[in-house]
Amino acid sequence: MFNSLAEVLARLQRAERVLVIGHIKPDGDDISSVASLVLILRKMGKIAEGCIADDIPWFYKEIPGVSLIKSVSELRNYRYDTAVTVDASELARIGDAVKLLSGAKPDVTIDHHKTNTRFGEINFCDSDYAAAALAIYEIGRETVDYDPDLAEVNLLGIATDTGFFKYGNTDAKVFTYAAELVKQGADIQRIASAVLEHTTLNEIKLVVEMFNTLSLAMDGKLAWAHVSTEMLTRNNCTEQDTEGLVGQIRSIHGVEVAILFIEWPHNHVHISFRSKSYADVSEIALKFGGGGHARAAGCSCKDVELPTMIDKVIAAAKEYLAVAHLEE
Ligand code: 5GP
Ligand code: MN
Repeated sequence: MFNSLAEVLARLQRAERVLVIGHIKPDGDDISSVASLVLILRKMGKIAEGCIADDIPWFYKEIPGVSLIKSVSELRNYRYDTAVTVDASELARIGDAVKLLSGAKPDVTIDHHKTNTRFGEINFCDSDYAAAALAIYEIGRETVDYDPDLAEVNLLGIATDTGFFKYGNTDAKVFTYAAELVKQGADIQRIASAVLEHTTLNEIKLVVEMFNTLSLAMDGKLAWAHVSTEMLTRNNCTEQDTEGLVGQIRSIHGVEVAILFIEWPHNHVHISFRSKSYADVSEIALKFGGGGHARAAGCSCKDVELPTMIDKVIAAAKEYLAVAHLEE
């Protein structure tokens, strides 16, 4: 069973020095949840720091508050009495930040992934929440006054995890909270511009190469492509520049499941799954040690060969889709 947000809040109110940890390969919701919770805790009069083990993609740094997030090494000597993870479904998702926990469980976990493993002492997780940032807002609005900077960074996660208010998870609560945050000074245009309009020429070249690898199967319901280490280096790109590519595959008419294989570094393959309306791709990701949501999931496999992984995962996806399609 999960704990309530009221229990999380009661635990946070008892804290004096807090460490907030996000997940590796940070996305907008993760970055938003870490930065917002740190700002809320500081407004509550506590000492708080935020940590994400992987580098934060540069374009998020235009949003206020994002730059307060520190690396694992910067926080090596930080003393805290309460550790909180946000937007992470399992302990492995926090990557090297696990070193800061010194073998202990996080005191609090706040999440919204279907595949959450309840790895903390107090765990809040509700997959009906479109974004972890919605839960952070529910904590914040109870405890502090919002200023425009906090409102904007809190809105970032709600905007990105709903695909800017267009995915199936975009319910009335999303619009209500977003409206409240805009009233409190958040600038949605600045968020949209930072997140959606930062494509570089190198990334465009990479997209062209990626689409050259596109395959379709199952009457066009399954689509997949890959980006190899070689393709990334040739175009002066890194894994960070692949964000959003799987969404472009899903956008093809008739595609239900889109899969992107990203090899980075060599023989280390991250697989991104997206579905459009009925397939639960977290079930496919779970088979390969990953997890996530019904419409967006992922997994990472080390010491594997890209073509072998493609064969294995596509076979599993076909098997899944054959049944899912019948049940649809
Ligand atoms: P992405 O495809 O953008 O990397 O990830 C999509 C979703 O799947 C995100 O919500 C992310 O949290 C989840 N996810 C991605 N990779 C992994 C993984 O290796 N393990 C788990 N449990 N979830 C993952
Ligand atoms: Mn999220």
